[in-house]
Amino acid sequence: MTKTFETGYTALRGVQLEIAPQRFVALVGPSGCGKSTTLALVAGLDAPSGGTVSVRGKPVDGITDSVGFLFQRDALLPWKTVRDNVMLPLQLRGVAGAQARERTADWIDRVGLRGFEGAYPYQLSGGMRKRVALAQTLVYDPEILLMDEPFSALDVQTRNLMEAEVLGLWQGSGKTVMFVTHDLEEAIALADEVVVMTAGPGRVKARYDVPLPRPRDIEQVRFDPRFTELYRAMWDDMRDEVLESYARARQAG
Ligand code: ADP
Ligand code: MG
Repeated sequence: MTKTFETGYTALRGVQLEIAPQRFVALVGPSGCGKSTTLALVAGLDAPSGGTVSVRGKPVDGITDSVGFLFQRDALLPWKTVRDNVMLPLQLRGVAGAQARERTADWIDRVGLRGFEGAYPYQLSGGMRKRVALAQTLVYDPEILLMDEPFSALDVQTRNLMEAEVLGLWQGSGKTVMFVTHDLEEAIALADEVVVMTAGPGRVKARYDVPLPRPRDIEQVRFDPRFTELYRAMWDDMRDEVLESYARARQAG
């Protein structure tokens, strides 16, 4: 597929990518290469200008059902408590009463926030807010998870904790994940497969299987020799794209 915006700028050109169900796939590439645009097209928030985007064999038409989104900036409502924030997506989908309350309590528990049900977002740390956002995304049980640099604003320790949390929740869930990051290490540590994109207009430059066993220890896995080997190969692919994207940014002023 191809995406040209109203401004005339082509962000994606001839992207060809197929993702098998239940896979954890990371999308990496330099800033501005079209990663967020790709997720928006899968989610149905925007439409391609050429080609097709299909989910479960059907062309995307409007907001894709069964997709959950996690952004770098969370979308918590500041005037609602943790409980009410997590319950909101259920209410929007018409799930109410005891069932909604039970599922909400279960997810607050699963992301490790028991005891904070009545807290407001401003009372929480960055990591805790992420946990609320994660519960809010998973509470309605979407089949596909789209994550757009969800942890890049967190400090390294919190980030490692959140990555481990995501892997734990995903493992055995049967969900398909598209995880966007500009961090190669994060991509390798988490994913079954890493897709490297070119500098804009984005295309798929290379795909790598990550043959590291699961369950993975998010910190230990980085010391695996296969990790280092993959990192080197991918960085070779990515370096040119990053330099290219820097050069263009400088030209643009
Ligand atoms: P990434 O997420 O990889 O950093 P994006 O997908 O956000 O990149 O953007 C890709 C390119 O498309 C960027 O150059 C961006 O400025 C441009 N772009 C994104 N959205 C729009 C839009 N609505 N109109 C015009 N250009 C856009
Ligand atoms: Mg982006």
